[in-house]
Amino acid sequence: MDFSFSPEELEFRDELRGWLDSNLPPFLEEWRQEDEGSSGMLGSMDRRKAWQRKLNEGRWAAVTWPEEWGGRDATAAQSMIYSEEMARARPPAVFNSNGLWQIGPMIIRWGTEHQKQTWVPNILNADDHWCQGFSEPEAGSDLANLRTMAIRDGDHYVLNGQKTWTSSAQFAKWGLFLVRTDPDAIADGRKHEGITALIVDLETDGIEIQPIRDLTGEETFCEVTFNDARVPVDYRLGEDGEGWLVAMGTLGKERVGTAGMAIGMKHDLDAMIALARSVNPSALDDTLIRARVAEVHTRIEYTRLLNLRALSRILKDQKPWPEVPLAKLQWSHLSQTLAELAMDLLGPDALYAKPSEFAVENGAWNRLYVFQRYTSIGAGTSEIQKNILADRAIKMSR
Ligand SMILES: Cc1cc2nc3c(=O)[nH]c(=O)nc-3n(C[C@H](O)[C@H](O)[C@H](O)COP(=O)(O)OP(=O)(O)OC[C@H]3O[C@@H](n4cnc5c(N)ncnc54)[C@H](O)[C@@H]3O)c2cc1C
Repeated sequence: MDFSFSPEELEFRDELRGWLDSNLPPFLEEWRQEDEGSSGMLGSMDRRKAWQRKLNEGRWAAVTWPEEWGGRDATAAQSMIYSEEMARARPPAVFNSNGLWQIGPMIIRWGTEHQKQTWVPNILNADDHWCQGFSEPEAGSDLANLRTMAIRDGDHYVLNGQKTWTSSAQFAKWGLFLVRTDPDAIADGRKHEGITALIVDLETDGIEIQPIRDLTGEETFCEVTFNDARVPVDYRLGEDGEGWLVAMGTLGKERVGTAGMAIGMKHDLDAMIALARSVNPSALDDTLIRARVAEVHTRIEYTRLLNLRALSRILKDQKPWPEVPLAKLQWSHLSQTLAELAMDLLGPDALYAKPSEFAVENGAWNRLYVFQRYTSIGAGTSEIQKNILADRAIKMSR
């Protein structure tokens, strides 16, 4: 690993820190009633929208986007600084993370001028919520097995099939969906071909959205069913059959994004220890718990170094390899270990969910404990990350 931040990068950090210091506290004060930790995604959409708009006012909503589309053309180093500063400040979540991290950049990369003018500002300013519809009942890890059919009929595609696990589809006006436009591709053994990316207006006739209740008791994702839903050909992103290319760009960004999330865990650990001092101080004298805290602290630090090593490679125009899949694995493992530690550090009351009067921080830690199971499934399961490492990094024979 070999780099230090340049004067421009340090200036970027100072500008962001200054902006957060002057804008975040008044925002939190104004939105104090909306307690996001306890209500998860569902209860906090208004606050998220307001926060994303506030970020956009300062041109801090999508720093990696090109300047002409409201970003800052941030380099990989600035992007990492951004993640670090956001983790330090602990702001509310944004309204449209799918849109900002994945779909917006893909429209900027693949969209026609008209598509960009129509949708990019909409995403940036949190006008509408966006979802990403890739997974299907028979296509998750093996995404290229997707079978939602889109058959061309004049100026439209007619969609039939089912998507699943589509996060926040019940709130979304728009979604980026992968569909199969070549019905013979799977049977012919060309399953990565004949896939097309379509932007879909979820208010179209023939689309049914059924929320799925998850482990937290909330409905964070949905099944989306298409029954002869007609989508204009003008809503296609990229050419017919280029969907796999579009999707790989999207997932690449998602994986780099999750690798950066490890940075936030140091602050979660600190917050958890500070809270334990008031709600369950005796835990901090327990030798076994102290050893677990020390181990988690050490793992977080070397995950941070792993991220920096990936960054160092990117700065030298090398592939961040195998650091990115390793960091994703570390992030999943650490998120779950940290959530389990929280339960023991904060004592029995941490197990209460809201609206119990005994729940610690209105059930935020209980929710985290169950929700963190997601980290070893979303953005590529742990088994798949290990397969990638075995195949491409260690080059193990099958
Ligand atoms: C909270 C949450 C939000 C999500 N949001 C979205 C979303 O917005 N949009 C979207 O499109 N999808 C979303 N997903 C779906 C997610 O991308 C898939 O769950 C994931 O890709 C795994 O696919 P699957 O669930 O079909 O599991 P499967 O692929 O069926 O895997 C089942 C099990 O088998 C293992 N396995 C599979 N193949 C192999 C192999 N070759 N070798 C070894 N083990 C293997 C897996 O690791 C896993 O343990 C979300 C998932 C979660 C949990």
